[in-house]
Amino acid sequence: MSGRLERERERVAAASRRLAADGLVTGTAGNLSARAGDLVAVTPTGARLEDLTADAVAVVDLDGEQVEGELAPSSELGLHLGIYRRYEAGAVVHSHARFATALACVLDELPVVHYQMLALGGAVRVAPYHTFGTPELAEATLQALEARSAALMANHGAIVYGPDLDAAMEHARLLEWACELYWRASALGTPRTLDQSEQLAFVEAVSRRGYGITRRSDS
Ligand code: 13P
Ligand code: ZN
Repeated sequence: MSGRLERERERVAAASRRLAADGLVTGTAGNLSARAGDLVAVTPTGARLEDLTADAVAVVDLDGEQVEGELAPSSELGLHLGIYRRYEAGAVVHSHARFATALACVLDELPVVHYQMLALGGAVRVAPYHTFGTPELAEATLQALEARSAALMANHGAIVYGPDLDAAMEHARLLEWACELYWRASALGTPRTLDQSEQLAFVEAVSRRGYGITRRSDS
């Protein structure tokens, strides 16, 4: 394989296989993309992500014009491109992960039940249901992503973005973890949520001492 965005096509294929191996998608559900400059490497429509290879990954420009690959891009290409146009995204991951999709059948918003959700921007909105691959679904989902890097899609699944593919994959896993947490907590009672001042205190603590990064004890 040779051509544009070779590295991104390899990475999108590897991340797709990982997403399937982690159980966040099954069969042909879900799609991923990564941006480099004015081009986007995106999974092909109808592909089984579990064994996707780089040569199957399509490359399109920001208008959706295909420039590499033989297979047609994902039916959710409009949604992916909308995210790149409207937000500071380097990669997008759309899954039909179990807990996220279950909650997206019930909730209008996933409240902040754990401070780690602040890495996604706070409470996660549920975009109203529209048929897959439609401009209506893309627009509803883009609105739900305002000031967030994650959204649920009613009776459909989840979408996240990040500055690169590793970050977007991390967000996909974090969102699914938060959805499972909410699900399990709800089975025991009404989950408490973190209020604005508790959320702010977390953000301040992170800027003061960092979070989730190792450091030398003498620093
Ligand atoms: P594609 O196979 O076209 O990417 O569609 C899968 C999907 O999840 C649609 O929302
Ligand atoms: Zn989908």
